[in-house]
Amino acid sequence: MGWLSGDWKERVLHLLLPRTCGACGRDLPCTLQGPLCGPCLSGLELIRPPYCPRCGMAGRAQTSCRRCASLPPATPVTRAAFRYRGPLPPLLHAFKYGGRLDAGRALGDWMAGAWRRHPELGRPDALVPVPLHPARLAERGFNQARVLAERVSSAAGAPVAELAARRRRTPPQAQRAREERLGRMSGAFRAEPSARGLRLVLVDDAMTSGETLAACASALREAGAADVKAFVLTRA
Ligand SMILES: [Zn+2]
Ligand SMILES: [Zn+2]
Repeated sequence: MGWLSGDWKERVLHLLLPRTCGACGRDLPCTLQGPLCGPCLSGLELIRPPYCPRCGMAGRAQTSCRRCASLPPATPVTRAAFRYRGPLPPLLHAFKYGGRLDAGRALGDWMAGAWRRHPELGRPDALVPVPLHPARLAERGFNQARVLAERVSSAAGAPVAELAARRRRTPPQAQRAREERLGRMSGAFRAEPSARGLRLVLVDDAMTSGETLAACASALREAGAADVKAFVLTRA
């Protein structure tokens, strides 16, 4: 049975269950760790300074970006780890809609690595994953924000605390984008009374219109949170 040990065992498993790159779909060599092939991995782009001081968007100057003008006033100060380009959009899609939890964990680890680049996030008392509605959670089986927050927790030196919940069902992604533009997210969340006095950092996969983060941050502030900021995987 010697040939089935070590390397060989891995290779046989690989033949039975080939792993593919979460971004381009190429077969991954069994010696490679992580959800991306080499070229895709090197295509990931961290957001480096200068970036927008308010929403974290990569830009040319350290002043509020063009897109900030359309953010809801309640949008928290947000920092984003990666640019929304290259292998990131398909990898995030594979995580959220293709059930690639391995991709989610890797994205969370990379996000954790980017935490120290953003000292403005401070030293929070807890990380709060943006919640999914229970019906959506049941469909998907996991909350992508929670998966990311759990990987970021030790880098942030703060526990994950589910201090916010969805109040009502929000429509699927495409429809949601439209509803968000119409400002229908306000009141979509309720926060736990135990948020009172805490410095919190919301964690989510992507910031787009800012409506979700704004609505969630408003609920936490209303519950008495001392400070609410946000850390997202990407600013789309
Ligand atoms: Zn690839
Ligand atoms: Zn901005």
